[in-house]
Amino acid sequence: MRIVFMGAPGSGKGTQAQRLEKQFSIPQISTGDILRKHLAEGTPLGLRAKEIMASGGYVDDETMLAIIRERLAQPDAAQGFILDGFPRTVAQAEGLTKLLAELGTPLDAVVLFDVDTEQLVKRVSGRRTCEFCKKVFNINFAPASGECLPGRTGHSLVQRPDDREDTFKERLRKYEEDTRKPVSHYYASTGLMRIVDAEGAIDEVTQRLLTTLAAGGGGVAAPRKRAQAASRRRATRKAKAVKTMRRVVRKLKKAAKQGRGAVKAARKAARKRVSKLKAKAKRRTPARRKSKR
Ligand SMILES: [Zn+2]
Repeated sequence: MRIVFMGAPGSGKGTQAQRLEKQFSIPQISTGDILRKHLAEGTPLGLRAKEIMASGGYVDDETMLAIIRERLAQPDAAQGFILDGFPRTVAQAEGLTKLLAELGTPLDAVVLFDVDTEQLVKRVSGRRTCEFCKKVFNINFAPASGECLPGRTGHSLVQRPDDREDTFKERLRKYEEDTRKPVSHYYASTGLMRIVDAEGAIDEVTQRLLTTLAAGGGGVAAPRKRAQAASRRRATRKAKAVKTMRRVVRKLKKAAKQGRGAVKAARKAARKRVSKLKAKAKRRTPARRKSKR
């Protein structure tokens, strides 16, 4: 199974990826983890990434694709993989499609973990870590208990700067604009897109995810419906054209019985009708679709 996981920070896609990894014995491939590893090992790629990140930028699409190409070539990815955190741009998504086509191993599904924004903010901005024992709590869902309760010696709860509400909301906005909208739009047109309701207990979400993946086919009806509507429109147009042509033929036959003058007039009328049909077909096919979107 070859899958891409998409979801906002805090949507729980990493946790779900770890569960699926065990279930299907396929690796979870997180570009974040790979980059951190390259950084830690000081590889040429790591050094390049370090430079880019130090200047506040993102690692470029080409480098990310090179990382993915190298990772997918490893034997543990032969049976499939879960891509987590990649692609994050349309260029990366296109590059991935091309790469997988070359390898002859196209994607099976793209899963979007859907969580309401307000819920995401509660999840992430409520996160606190005990500085002493590194346990993670959530002031909104699972408050600190036992020896980590504030005031006990040695234990104190802190919030990661990244998790602060205003910082997190900005991250979320960037994710939505730069990744979620364009990339899910790209995948929607491929029919691979599935949306999983990622609110509620972790087990429930896993169950929904497995059901969605087992169902196969596109999880989102929209592109398929659109294709069906287009094919219906084509069929109607064709039927109309056939009807018109039959009428033209009937008129020509009738004119043939009436003599030379009638035939001449009927031919002229027929030519006019046919050229009108041709013009209509030309106008409707690509141009109309574009203007409707
Ligand atoms: Zn503690």
